[in-house]
Amino acid sequence: MASTEFKKLIFDKIESEPGCPLCSLLMDYEFNLLANIHYEVTRNESIRKQIASEGGFCDFHFRQFKKIANYKTSITLLKSLIDSEIHKNINTNINCRLCNEINLFENELILFTTDLFNDFDFLHDKFKNSNGFCIIHLKSILQNIKDQNLIDTLTQFHHEQIERFKPIIELMNSSKSYLEISMSNRGLVNVLIQKFAGRKTGGF
Ligand SMILES: [Zn+2]
Ligand SMILES: [Zn+2]
Repeated sequence: MASTEFKKLIFDKIESEPGCPLCSLLMDYEFNLLANIHYEVTRNESIRKQIASEGGFCDFHFRQFKKIANYKTSITLLKSLIDSEIHKNINTNINCRLCNEINLFENELILFTTDLFNDFDFLHDKFKNSNGFCIIHLKSILQNIKDQNLIDTLTQFHHEQIERFKPIIELMNSSKSYLEISMSNRGLVNVLIQKFAGRKTGGF
């Protein structure tokens, strides 16, 4: 991916969605990857054998795969796993290709994002006024930055981004029923959870 392409992707996410733009890009990537792997598994026996030799997918991605796959495809993949006899070595570690590819993409996103903060206008306008990143991605980005001023600025923006939620949370806290809470404020609850806990992938 080129850095201009990345810039457009992240700007679009910040403008169109209230949550962490990196989590959102990762979820899109994960969904497309699952759809492609599903297509390959259905049609290509050698891919099924490769995946079986990797021990299949991790627990989480196997379940995601089953969710989007038709029943027959999941069964065909399980048959490949049994035929590969990988279960006879109980110490085999699963080498989930979905986790591997998502980790590579995530590392690329972190590097591009770190670079983006060389743009003063982005930092002090678009980023500052957005809801920022989830805690997991903020920490990864901070680890890549050497300039202490920039670290302090990003940390300060993160505090401000969370504190802007205070009046909304207080309003919702004083609501007598869930029905009184607007749809957009209900969505902000998820954004705030992300700010504290991170989401990364797996939200669909
Ligand atoms: Zn995130
Ligand atoms: Zn996985």
